[in-house]
Amino acid sequence: MKYTDLHIQTQREFPNNARTEGFAFLVRAGYVTRENNLTPLGEYAANHLRELAESDKSSFFLHLSLPTIGNADETFFPISSGPTEVIHCSACKYTARLEQAYFAKSTLPAEEPQPLEKVSTPDCHTIESLANFLNLPKEKTAKALMYTRPSDGKFIFIVVRGDTQLSEAKLKGHVGEVRVATAEEIENAGAAAGYASPIGLTDALIVVDDLIPQSQNLVAGANEDGYHLMNTNLGRDYQAEIITDLALAKAGDACAHCGNPLSLLACDILATRGRDVALQRLYDHNILLALAETHHDGKGLTLPSPAAPFDVYLMHLPGKMTDTRAKAEEIYNVLQDAGISVLFDDRDERAGVKFNDADLIGCPVRVTVGERGLKEGMVEVKARKVGENQSVPISSVTSSIKQNL
Ligand SMILES: [Zn+2]
Repeated sequence: MKYTDLHIQTQREFPNNARTEGFAFLVRAGYVTRENNLTPLGEYAANHLRELAESDKSSFFLHLSLPTIGNADETFFPISSGPTEVIHCSACKYTARLEQAYFAKSTLPAEEPQPLEKVSTPDCHTIESLANFLNLPKEKTAKALMYTRPSDGKFIFIVVRGDTQLSEAKLKGHVGEVRVATAEEIENAGAAAGYASPIGLTDALIVVDDLIPQSQNLVAGANEDGYHLMNTNLGRDYQAEIITDLALAKAGDACAHCGNPLSLLACDILATRGRDVALQRLYDHNILLALAETHHDGKGLTLPSPAAPFDVYLMHLPGKMTDTRAKAEEIYNVLQDAGISVLFDDRDERAGVKFNDADLIGCPVRVTVGERGLKEGMVEVKARKVGENQSVPISSVTSSIKQNL
């Protein structure tokens, strides 16, 4: 491809809306606009990535040298600006979306069930205030959440231990779509908002987290404003239709596989996989950003060979006596015949401008055709990363490039 055909537009300045260095360099190198739309160069790079993925589905991400995390279904790239929250174990590599992640729950020592006792708990609408008021750890309380299933109007009462949060995604996986119950629906079921428990409800589907059967003598609402019940026990005081994992993981929870503390990471999704673990969908925008984030230095992108849209950035320095452009064009054709992909900077620009653009765009090898070298039958070959300029005879430019890829 020729530079002018791709209408490449590099930028001197970092965009002021850049959230990460990688994004800033993608804009400066002319792969995306400031509004994060792909330019023709960006489209070309994305196409190249799709072809690479098509030709090697199993080790595509290895070729890109990206520090990805993932599981059989999805591949993620941790990045501060990423919208997807992912739980990850750095020891055994367990990875899952936050809302579906599981973890090793911490059980308390088993206790003999104690008799129910109604206690006055004024203004204790939250687990926080309740635990403070009764001077108990949150682990000794039962948290109530109430939903309605629109499909059949069923009132759904959920219990999780007071120190955990509900994952709505896990709940929906068991009961289908739900919405938060209205005040009227809560009242009709016999519950009291802020003081609710599943004890004595009429016509409610009761769903509890699997930590609840292992937690005795929890404080729960009395379904009466201003009162709670001490020592509630599943099985004795109420029954549950569904007992399952409903809790939302958080950073620091223990990994269910190896016990290592889990991390919560902001990520971009890069790819999904189908049932046969083959790549199903590529998020090319995100992959480009991940590449830029991982592979750059102070001057621009430093893309590794299979990931770069072109192997070579070929440029001529306008000469006084010699038609360097014509010679570069000859080399352009030779390289393409040898199966090397080339971006030919065919502009009659100053050397400094072209060198800057070559560094920004980040092809693995730069080839410079200049008047002085041509007199000796030589061109300059420079690897983008190593940075050493080599004078190479024109006849061996192809092999020299291949050594540098
Ligand atoms: Zn682990």
